[in-house]
Amino acid sequence: MDALMPNYRRYPVRMVRGRGVYLYDEAERDYLDFTSGIGVTALGHAHPAVTAALSEQAGRLVHCSNLYEIPVQEAVAERLSLLFGGGRAFFCNSGAEANEAALKLARRYQYRRGQTDRTEWVALEGGFHGRTFGALSVTPRPAYQEGFTPLVPGARIIDPADPAALDAVGPRTAGVLIEVIQGEGGVRPLDPGFVRALAEKARAEGALLMVDEVQTGMGRTGRFFAYEHYGLDPDVVTMAKALANGVPVGAVIARPEVAEAFSPGSHGSTFGGNPLAMAAAQVVIDTVSAPEFLARVEQVGGILRERLQAVAARVPGGAVVRGRGLMWGLRPHAAGVAEKIVAAALEERLLLTAVGDQTVRFLPPLIVTPADIDAAMTRLDRALAKVAA
Ligand SMILES: *Cc1c(COP(=O)(O)O)cnc(C)c1O
Repeated sequence: MDALMPNYRRYPVRMVRGRGVYLYDEAERDYLDFTSGIGVTALGHAHPAVTAALSEQAGRLVHCSNLYEIPVQEAVAERLSLLFGGGRAFFCNSGAEANEAALKLARRYQYRRGQTDRTEWVALEGGFHGRTFGALSVTPRPAYQEGFTPLVPGARIIDPADPAALDAVGPRTAGVLIEVIQGEGGVRPLDPGFVRALAEKARAEGALLMVDEVQTGMGRTGRFFAYEHYGLDPDVVTMAKALANGVPVGAVIARPEVAEAFSPGSHGSTFGGNPLAMAAAQVVIDTVSAPEFLARVEQVGGILRERLQAVAARVPGGAVVRGRGLMWGLRPHAAGVAEKIVAAALEERLLLTAVGDQTVRFLPPLIVTPADIDAAMTRLDRALAKVAA
């Protein structure tokens, strides 16, 4: 451990393998994984079709660079374009990189159409977009930004609860970047009225509407993209996390007129869109975009929601439940309770995370069954008994 930088606060549990909704430690103890590696392993651990695609691709071609055409990258882009409603894709290796590319694309798009004063990005309080400098600059969390200034100029942060906030979107705005359900911010769905007003203001002002679907995308909320619940028609969407079920990948998709701003040489990534990640992404997209699969996410998600609402009544001091599909937050009214629940759940071998706004987050794999939810609730009940004691 001393050989690693101390930037993570790790639980003293040593995972060595996974299968479906379970992780196993060195002593073969099972842990019910309701984090999915922070929204990544949407198809569960060691999913047979993903494993087969990766094995096959690893034996064929892992990397050749974007100097050449890559058939499987084009195949993934075509699928995403269809789901987005007509767009062109850029591939990278993480969520931060995808947002970094989107922020650059917004400036470049405005620059190329002569709007050289449009250099600002508008983003929201409670949002999370990543740790690289651009992404960090639009992630207004003091704990993440402290000691890293100066950040990238041009970030305007607005409060989604403030009606006057939309005034920030104007003649200097290149693009607006939002998560429709703020994941790291505490599983907080944005108010639909606010989202609609923000989208309309962006369009009216000539700013791009960019939706960060790094956590909410790939079927997590019961639609392939969470923005579909809000009836949005974004110009740019970013993805990562679940897109290749654990193989590092990020993606940006943009309307063709916007995508054209990235002319040859203007942006790039050595690993981005490599055949290995693309082979996994293809399986994930084909699986989760099936209407029956998405309907099942809604249905099983409804079961989880009901169970959590029953749990909320037993949380010391009470709690609220918020989210959509298979993305849920349990927010105790009392301070400090969320961390206690997560720690007690780990003792019961139920994996959860505490996120912003003192919220316990539930992100089970999308393949979770009602029986798995039963098992999780049994462990959660034991954890809650400890917290209450
Ligand atoms: C996790 C996350 C990111 C950052 O992704 P990394 O792969 O960790 O860089 C960006 N945006 C959202 C909404 C996220 O949840």
